[in-house]
Amino acid sequence: MPALDRSALAERYHAVKASLPPHVTLVAVSKTRTVEEIKALYDLGHRAFGENYPQELRDKQPLLPADIEWHFIGHLQSNKVKYIAPFAHLVHGVDGEKLLDELDKRAGQSQRVQNVLLQAHIAQEETKHGFSAVEIRDLSTLPWRWNNLRLRGLMGMASNTGDQRQVKHEFEGLARLFKELKAGEAGTGPAFDTLSMGMSGDAPLAIAAGSTLVRIGTAIFGERG
Ligand SMILES: *Cc1c(COP(=O)(O)O)cnc(C)c1O
Repeated sequence: MPALDRSALAERYHAVKASLPPHVTLVAVSKTRTVEEIKALYDLGHRAFGENYPQELRDKQPLLPADIEWHFIGHLQSNKVKYIAPFAHLVHGVDGEKLLDELDKRAGQSQRVQNVLLQAHIAQEETKHGFSAVEIRDLSTLPWRWNNLRLRGLMGMASNTGDQRQVKHEFEGLARLFKELKAGEAGTGPAFDTLSMGMSGDAPLAIAAGSTLVRIGTAIFGERG
């Protein structure tokens, strides 16, 4: 493995930070990155990291400082919730009621309130996960029955396409739904404050559409090997 280039990492990190408006939270996506790489970014003052794979996160978490805020951003299967439930700060990709049930149960066992985002299916690809807009409206306006879960907002991933108009259209649709629910009297409440959309390739479009949190990996850590 090549030695870690700390000054290149610092340069990329500060460039990404400088490109974000102050109201947008940066989650550094550290999937496949080593503990050493994560610690190097931590030493630059960064605290919010995002991971995609439950076992990978379970293994890394105890090796890194306890004040890291771990975001789980990947597709989560119910049988893997136990690996991250004791410490996850925010679970972004919640895409089914069975998963909500399991997250609620495990949060209760850990005596925690778990912050969650509902994932909206906004892309054209069938392979992406998430609820439809109708399902999200129902879940967030009907009485919330998961007492150990706090609904913090929505998450979405745009189509993987070079068509900027398509990506913009998808982000704007999700932002409209987010604003509608945030403004609504029913269900959501003041904790509903997070719209997680935008990655290295499409963050500027996501921010222009109203994102409050971007998940950025390659622009900070370099290409994944
Ligand atoms: C990998 C990943 C990211 C980061 O992607 P980059 O292109 O490396 O910035 C963001 N969100 C999700 C859900 C991911 O899986």
